[in-house]
Amino acid sequence: MTPISLNAGNPGTWTGPGNNTYLFDGAEPTLIDAGVGNTDHLDAIASRLNGRALVRVLVTHGHPDHASGLPALRQRWPSLEARKWMSAPEPGWQGLDDGGGVRAGDTWLTVVHTPGHAVDHVCFWEPEARDLYCGDMMTATTTILVPPAAGGGSLKAYLASLQRLIDLRPAIAWPGHGPEISRPVDRLQEYLRHRAERESQVKACFDAGLTDIDRIVARVYAETPRSLWPAARLTVEALLEKLSEDGQL
Ligand SMILES: [Zn+2]
Repeated sequence: MTPISLNAGNPGTWTGPGNNTYLFDGAEPTLIDAGVGNTDHLDAIASRLNGRALVRVLVTHGHPDHASGLPALRQRWPSLEARKWMSAPEPGWQGLDDGGGVRAGDTWLTVVHTPGHAVDHVCFWEPEARDLYCGDMMTATTTILVPPAAGGGSLKAYLASLQRLIDLRPAIAWPGHGPEISRPVDRLQEYLRHRAERESQVKACFDAGLTDIDRIVARVYAETPRSLWPAARLTVEALLEKLSEDGQL
């Protein structure tokens, strides 16, 4: 099924043209990702629902571009149910269980916990259509920032999550940013190869006695614009954490 994709109205450096949110119309109108509370976004949802209430919002993770719109949504639809993965209860939210089912429109989605980019990241899986709503696990055109543990990330967890998504064999993936991904398994495998390549490059630096993070970034990302080095630094930090967890440093 081609979902109704509604732009959250928050274009920017990190969000591209603005976050995608996905509306499932039907018996229980449900939105995947909350956006940021932009009025045009809320109006677009309301116009699709034509007077009916939005029943539920499911968020892929708690980053502000995906979750901060909840209060605005709730102001418009006061009985809105909001759900996300939580390790401890948070006011205003209900939880999601890995492997559990959740109603969306006229269908059921399965929750797939995919930590790595964020500890609370989940994907939503529609098994009959083999549609994957993948949040910030992947995009069609860029790599994903996986921060070190201090920023809520884990490269080791991210790689395991990529593999978990490959094992689902999705037919199409609908990301939080940018266009749909028509060959998601190929894309996920490409991501795994890319990360393995970076890992061997960073490991080679370390083995050559280069242990300062900024110097590793300068070597491994020599061909990357300097404006992206701060993000690259986080990536290298996350990689060093993984190598250390693997007992390789
Ligand atoms: Zn995110």
